[in-house]
Amino acid sequence: MSTTTHTHLLRPLNLGFTTLRNRVVMGSMHTGLEDRYYNYPKLAAYFRERARGGVGLIVTGGISPDRRGWLLPFGGTLNSFFDLANHRLVTRAVHEEGGKILMQILHSGRYGYQPFVVSASAIKSPISKFKPRPLSERGIASTIHDYVRCAKLAQDADYDGVEIMGSEGYLLNQFLCKRTNQRTDDWGGSIENRMRLPLEIVRQVREAVGRKFILMYRISILDLVDGGNSWEEVVQVAQALEQAGVTIFNTGVGWHEARIPTIVTSVPRAAFASVAARLKASVKVPVVASNRINMPDEAEAMIASGQVDMVSMARPFLADAEFVNKVATGRVDEINTCIGCNQACLDHTFANQRASCLVNPRAGHETELVYRKTTQPRRVAVVGAGPAGMSAATVAAECGHEVTLFESSDSIGGQFKVAMRVPGKEEFAQTLRYFARHIELLGVKLVLNQRVTRAQLLAEGFDEVILATGIVPRKPSIEGVDHPKVLSYLDVLQGKVTPGKQVAIIGAGGIGFDVAEFLLHDPAISLPVSIERWCQEWGVDLQAQANGGLVAPAPPEPYRQLFLLQRKAGKPGAGLGKTSGWVHRAVLQRNDVKMLSGVAYERIDDAGLHISVDGMPRVLPVDHVVLCAGQESLAELMPDTKAQATPGEPRFHRIGGAALATELDAKRAIREGAVLAARL
Ligand code: NAP
Ligand code: SF4
Repeated sequence: MSTTTHTHLLRPLNLGFTTLRNRVVMGSMHTGLEDRYYNYPKLAAYFRERARGGVGLIVTGGISPDRRGWLLPFGGTLNSFFDLANHRLVTRAVHEEGGKILMQILHSGRYGYQPFVVSASAIKSPISKFKPRPLSERGIASTIHDYVRCAKLAQDADYDGVEIMGSEGYLLNQFLCKRTNQRTDDWGGSIENRMRLPLEIVRQVREAVGRKFILMYRISILDLVDGGNSWEEVVQVAQALEQAGVTIFNTGVGWHEARIPTIVTSVPRAAFASVAARLKASVKVPVVASNRINMPDEAEAMIASGQVDMVSMARPFLADAEFVNKVATGRVDEINTCIGCNQACLDHTFANQRASCLVNPRAGHETELVYRKTTQPRRVAVVGAGPAGMSAATVAAECGHEVTLFESSDSIGGQFKVAMRVPGKEEFAQTLRYFARHIELLGVKLVLNQRVTRAQLLAEGFDEVILATGIVPRKPSIEGVDHPKVLSYLDVLQGKVTPGKQVAIIGAGGIGFDVAEFLLHDPAISLPVSIERWCQEWGVDLQAQANGGLVAPAPPEPYRQLFLLQRKAGKPGAGLGKTSGWVHRAVLQRNDVKMLSGVAYERIDDAGLHISVDGMPRVLPVDHVVLCAGQESLAELMPDTKAQATPGEPRFHRIGGAALATELDAKRAIREGAVLAARL
């Protein structure tokens, strides 16, 4: 029996010819598995777990209708009878679990990173080095034909329907907007001409697949680029597509080349729900909201209030395959929440690696990283309750081991406790809530306020000791580093000290950027920032009067004057995530942060920080200097020798920062903890 309060979210949706079991869509996510035929068994296992987890409607990653539409060379394509067997592995897996699945047809247009790219006009995109060839009249006809063939094949492969990708700046969006469609023939100029391609595709696909096949169209409701469509145009396109045979509208926000973030963690939750609601008011078919919806309360509110009919979440299903079942059984506090970091999903996709999830390393690896019940339970000590330790402890307990988790401070979380204090990273608190709940549920014995000793670990007779003792901040050897002006980033982020109005930050890695954003925030403004304030800061008009919803940004005055410094040459923040680093750099630029590279640190004294850049000496007259100069491993409990322990002694393991502080990040820490615990 359901014990949920999310009744609207869980209510079935009757489409006339078929019924969806609830209002939750697992949105399309490119995993990389769909690109290689030999990975389809893994892809089927990935979708099976999500269908078993209760989601109403799944959408696959983008599958191209032809070679010209590839995102990457030899990307997933459905254009032949020979592809069907692989796709049937996926549809069978989902149907066996009572789910429904659509195949997304995605033609990349000028976003393709391959030499066959085409578009409406020969205008290169800023995110691919390949200039597109404009489609000829014949090319357009064959593209429509390829979409129809792809949809028919999807039907033959037993998909419940297709999603036609018309947003995010891909081919159909490129035809729709003047930014990329400068044609002078019947496919360019007026909106009636620019929308002919998506319209013809929908009309002919509907004709080919019949009435009883879901045709979801992902429409761009806010392009967020210069030369994007106005709201009137969006509505005109939607109404024409509805007439042509669309069953459901999914919504998309922002082209990939947009310089407005739409899904990173600093975007307020459900920021674009009001725009999706305006679309619902303009069409008769069901409308799905998307973008930065990661927990059921927001989703429930949107449906209960009648704003939209369904809610799409993509990354939240990487983070937790069981999301819907947990909602349905009143276990929302057990959801492993997507924190919008992009580090293991989109950053992997853009690096041509398999997508996974920072908080759930099993995502995309369902057949390879399995948390099997052990037949030989062992007594396991995990030392350190940061991301690595929490992950190791919970997975070891899930596998049936008897686990004690030691933590020297008064609470779990490690570096996450600090990260969640950074403006825009409030979601990190969700990961702590998830681990705290699972430590409790799985019966992990949590020992707080205890700096455990090696003697104690030996005396207590553990079989396995996992050292997840983390890191200590590096103290660089700069003359005057002990001057009272010098602060540690931990003290700053924990609010133990309040720096003055002029601050230099030594080190421009992830933590240097975090500290900069923390210091730029005016404490009088409550966090997380409201949707209205966020729109003002970034220049977003949710009414989309014109120009794809862009207006002049109106950010507040910088709260402090900051210098962000690094010794190496090149762009500060070059090591940040590909899909989120630009957002952090944009925030700092907007706040006039002086970012200096090639810096040599001379000394720190009452006058400030003395540096030289390219041999030119300079004094930064700052009130404080914050050290963000990287980390060093803390693994004092590790035996000196690599030799095997003497009989009767536990086996020692090191994970996370305790193993390697360089390039430490939570993704590696959580994955290492899980992999080790699963193999004990
Ligand atoms: P980091 O990214 O390795 O950056 C350390 C910074 O300190 C570098 O800018 C480095 O630049 C400088 N540095 C290193 N040794 C120094 C020395 N002896 N004297 C002066 N400067 C020195 O490390 P982090 O910032 O501590 O971040 C730790 C990890 O957490 C990162 O690897 C990252 O994955 C993760 N993280 C990521 C994010 C994010 O992506 N938003 C946020 C927070 C944390 P120079 O050597 O050029 O001076
Ligand atoms: Fe969400 Fe980060 Fe996982 Fe991606 S890697 S699904 S953004 S938590």
